Amino acid sequence: MQKFRPTHIKRGDTSLEIQWKDSHQSELSYRLLRQKCPCARCDATRSEKDPFHILPSDDFFENLHLVDIQQVGRYAVRLVWSDGHRTGIYTFQFLRELSEEASAI
Ligand SMILES: [Zn+2]
Repeated sequence: MQKFRPTHIKRGDTSLEIQWKDSHQSELSYRLLRQKCPCARCDATRSEKDPFHILPSDDFFENLHLVDIQQVGRYAVRLVWSDGHRTGIYTFQFLRELSEEASAI
């Protein structure tokens, strides 16, 4: 679907900037992206299945940035974080929905 195709993805200072094929623009903060990380471990932490359930502090997010964005197939990107976390694979559809959710608030 055309709507879910990015034409440019750029790492900003505190957010990921995405230009979409349908000319929509997204700016997703690193904090939001990391909080919504779709990997199994983060998902378990969010849903409190993780017995330790340690949520990061505000400081953690202030110092967090992206060190790399790797394309995964034709439908997703892997985000590599400055703390070494790299298991989150974000589909373009997920990123677009996140962006529309964030701007609706
Ligand atoms: Zn994760």
